[in-house]
Amino acid sequence: MKTRITELLAIEHPVVQGGMQWVGLAELASAVSNAGGLGIVTGLTQPTPEDLLKEIARCQSMTDKPFGVNLTILPTIKPVPYDEYAQAIVDSGVKIVETAGRNPEPYLPMFKEAGIKVIHKCTSIRHALKAEKIGCDAVSVDGFECAGHPGEDDVTNLILLPLAARRLKIPFLASGGLGDGRGLAAALAMGADGINMGTRFMVTKEAPIHDNVKQRMIEATELDTALIYRSFRNTARVFKNSVAEKVVEIESRPEETKFEDIQPLVQGVKGRELFDGGDLDKGIWSAGMIVGLIDDNPSCEELITRIVAEAEDIISKRLREMVSK
Ligand code: NAD
Repeated sequence: MKTRITELLAIEHPVVQGGMQWVGLAELASAVSNAGGLGIVTGLTQPTPEDLLKEIARCQSMTDKPFGVNLTILPTIKPVPYDEYAQAIVDSGVKIVETAGRNPEPYLPMFKEAGIKVIHKCTSIRHALKAEKIGCDAVSVDGFECAGHPGEDDVTNLILLPLAARRLKIPFLASGGLGDGRGLAAALAMGADGINMGTRFMVTKEAPIHDNVKQRMIEATELDTALIYRSFRNTARVFKNSVAEKVVEIESRPEETKFEDIQPLVQGVKGRELFDGGDLDKGIWSAGMIVGLIDDNPSCEELITRIVAEAEDIISKRLREMVSK
């Protein structure tokens, strides 16, 4: 498939791996890139900018293909030296960045000067238009189905993607609720130039997380996610385990919730321990509604090849037959 995204990013297939905290290590990013998609190393998963430089170098040693780095700017428990992470990305020689969260405008001059293409992840059309205006090369349009932070508007991709197609000039990826060939074909039909998948890539052989997590996500249905941090306007979609249910319960109490009330339950480091040790109630982990459509643990190569083949089949057979009579 040739789309504006495959051309912009110089990749074979219009499939991008989303930045995922604790999951976007060199193993996964290089596997996605080697399979012809775009892998993404997650910046803040590395404890310091120096560690990020090392992780990028590790990924460069594992693939000759393009890959990107995610830089997420959202509330954190400990302050993050974003400027230093951005500088590490520039120094690494990587040519693609996925920004997410707050407006990436302060970092665009340094990224542009280094010849870096910037894809900004947006959960609303107004943010996507703003990203286009400030000079982002592409956006990733994140529907309400997505894992992690879907924003506060609760608009699904069936509305967001056609709106993006009508209003944006720059290429865009569909993100949230994508995980199979039907999703890819539908996203392209709605005007997107490719798809961004996070949760689906968590259940692949190369994803560096415990098999218990992958198995639980295979068993899960589309009803197994929960929305937390709604009361802080920092909503996140996570897997509905006992910790997520506890957070929802605390946030629904009549008295105002303070972040300190839930901090011990949600701190990211517990999520990392969950991924490493496989104790499914150790903390919280991001997961999208697509868990309802995940039923195997393939390699990234098998997954991407299958998704593209399914989508091509739908486009060239099922849809073509509908209009050729
Ligand atoms: P962390 O341990 O610092 O915080 C845990 C969670 O609490 C994060 O989701 C964070 O946004 C939220 N949080 C922290 N302080 C808050 C506050 N004062 N008010 C409301 N919410 C608050 O974060 P981490 O797990 O190490 O993750 C690092 C960064 O990556 C954070 O910015 C986080 O939001 C982001 N992240 C994004 C996704 C995604 O899907 N987009 C998934 C996981 C993490």
